[in-house]
Amino acid sequence: MGLYDKFSRFSNEREKFQAHGLNPFGTCIDEVFSATKGRIGDQKIVLAGTNNYLGLTFDEQAIAEGQAALAAQGTGTTGSRMANGSYGPHLQLELELAEFFNRPSAIIFSTGYTANLGVISTLAQPGSVVLIDADSHASIYDACALGGTEIIRFRHNDAEDLERRMVRLGARAREAIIIVEGIYSMLGDVAPLREIVDIKRRLGGYLLVDEAHSFGVMGAHGRGLAEALGVEQDVDIILGTFSKSLASIGGFAVGNAGMEVLRYCSRPFIFTASPSPSSIASVRSTLKKIALHPELREKLWNNARRLYQGLTGLGYTLGPRISPVVPVMIGSQAEGLSLWRALIANGVYVNLVLPPAAPMGDTLLRCSVNAAHSDEDIDAIIHAFAVLKK
Ligand code: PMP
Repeated sequence: MGLYDKFSRFSNEREKFQAHGLNPFGTCIDEVFSATKGRIGDQKIVLAGTNNYLGLTFDEQAIAEGQAALAAQGTGTTGSRMANGSYGPHLQLELELAEFFNRPSAIIFSTGYTANLGVISTLAQPGSVVLIDADSHASIYDACALGGTEIIRFRHNDAEDLERRMVRLGARAREAIIIVEGIYSMLGDVAPLREIVDIKRRLGGYLLVDEAHSFGVMGAHGRGLAEALGVEQDVDIILGTFSKSLASIGGFAVGNAGMEVLRYCSRPFIFTASPSPSSIASVRSTLKKIALHPELREKLWNNARRLYQGLTGLGYTLGPRISPVVPVMIGSQAEGLSLWRALIANGVYVNLVLPPAAPMGDTLLRCSVNAAHSDEDIDAIIHAFAVLKK
């Protein structure tokens, strides 16, 4: 058997998708002009399929600070913090994140994926038990697998199901680790965090919340869902990424002082190169921007409402709530693919999501809005969907 033969199903599917037009997986956006505009082939497009929630990828200050760090500290760190040493800005950003969250400790990682791997796989070793939402991001599943923990999945956003499973654990529940996300990236729905915190208060356990899609987006200060629901004190560790609202690359965990020990025993922290100076500098800049400009969040939610209402008005079936992530439910995969291509031809780029990436066997066109979209951009998205509505 050849090295790649076991992937023949994937190769065949990919060929099938490529045969009749643009390939939805790994689409090349030939030019990116701004946080909201780009070009695919000859077609100028409104970017409505990013995680750039606050629209800060082209923030002038963040670019200038990134460029200055590139010039002053070089293109890369070329090693891990444990072996090769931290740069001052790594430590400064950790202090700034800890301060932003009012927590004693923050640790940064090279990506959001690595943050989940680094924290969860180290805490969730053989003998421990982790309860995760069934729709958890792959990084949470992979972290549990790496750690070798026992995994119990509960039904998506179903606190009663979580409670039943916690009760079944008996005394072990007191040591269990519960992991949920803030905003879920495909449906734009949020974890029932108050109910989950109530379960934790009664039955024990530890609570980790991955705020990858809700950091910068929810809460009076942009700290995420836990802040928005007033339950930050009940969350043991908040995980996040620099690749969405912070408009760069990297990840973080914030928690209490005890979390510091992870620096010495988390393999995904120790055995990978630290984030590059320019990434760190641009994140420090966008973090400041988030703290000083709550109106960005307001604009984001206005845009979310405008798109949600516009698409609902056209008769499309959307996700369960108004959110910066606006999934449009489509019947079949073939229909999804042809609509996705037609949207590009009409100047709008969204994400085609097929099962199993989309929950419940759905095909969906995942639209996302950001704070940099103008009303005209949102109307252009709605117009493209209107033209294609049967
Ligand atoms: N957690 C969640 C919930 C995510 O959606 C993602 C990325 N989409 C990650 C973690 C990983 O973040 P990163 O892309 O920074 O590795």
